[in-house]
Amino acid sequence: RAKGAGRNRVEVFDDALRARAMSRLRTEADLRLAADRHQLTLFYQPIVRLSDQSIAGFEALIRWMHPERGMISPADFVPLAEDTGLILQIGRWAMQEAAEQLARWQKDYGSGLFMSVNVSGRQMLDDQMVDSVRQVLADSGIPPETLKLEITESLLMDDPARAVVMMQQIRDLGVSLSLDDFGTGYSSLSYLHRYPVNSLKIDRAFVSGAGSGDRREEIPRIILLLAKSLDLDVVAEGIENPEQAGFLRSLECRYGQGFYFSRPAPAAEIERLLVLPCLPAS
Ligand code: C2E
Ligand code: MG
Ligand code: MG
Ligand code: MG
Repeated sequence: RAKGAGRNRVEVFDDALRARAMSRLRTEADLRLAADRHQLTLFYQPIVRLSDQSIAGFEALIRWMHPERGMISPADFVPLAEDTGLILQIGRWAMQEAAEQLARWQKDYGSGLFMSVNVSGRQMLDDQMVDSVRQVLADSGIPPETLKLEITESLLMDDPARAVVMMQQIRDLGVSLSLDDFGTGYSSLSYLHRYPVNSLKIDRAFVSGAGSGDRREEIPRIILLLAKSLDLDVVAEGIENPEQAGFLRSLECRYGQGFYFSRPAPAAEIERLLVLPCLPAS
């Protein structure tokens, strides 16, 4: 009996594995076609100046509009795109699309607006990355400093020395670099002073306790002190309520982003916010 149960268990396990492998293969095949079929789209989330809650720029966040499965979030396909190398094409498309959108918004709503685009480590270490960025700047005509590339540290750790060289080449084009999800990666502090970045984004995990009046406030406080001494700009991610916004403002954190101001939304919806003097509009 025990043996029988064991065999059944193995079979169940096998089936589950097979199903997962099949689903992954299907997703991979679908993803290969997604770009050609215009199923990938960018949502934009405003980044506001905390001093007056006016829109300073945006983060472009990719979405996959799957014909059968509906909207798929990046957490569910970006890792696959990274493993298969598809992220190189997808990432390039995202950078181009976001820059073209920014060019239109700068023309209509103010030339100072900026656009942050997420870049995976795989892309960052790619030979063609610097040329791609140069091409995107030429095609869109946006001022280089209004394009920001967001990078996460864990991915740079594969080859930190090469990463620093690539980052410097991108900085030489005039483009800004931002360290995403700051505080959640490893070796954050040991590498921070070596990365040629202009700004860092405080991860949502540390923003959630802001305004609570308890010990959780010490982490964002220290990150802001550190950023100030390294002369880095700071964006606080994941601000969900006025208490968090107020606390970060009191620490002189320059920028904020989160559901309290606006969720990520399609370009057409963002245009309804761009005419407002500040977010959230009362
Ligand atoms: P991220 O770059 O840290 O982006 C911030 C994430 O936090 C976004 O999730 C955003 O929707 C979410 N968020 C913003 N404000 C709030 C808030 O107030 N509360 C909560 N709970 N969440 C908030 P999203 O859009 O699902 O993106 C997840 C991750 O996928 C991104 O994290 C980024 O690492 C990656 N990603 C998105 N677009 C791209 C892309 O074009 N290329 C690459 N390589 N990665 C991307
Ligand atoms: Mg980001
Ligand atoms: Mg982030
Ligand atoms: Mg994050």
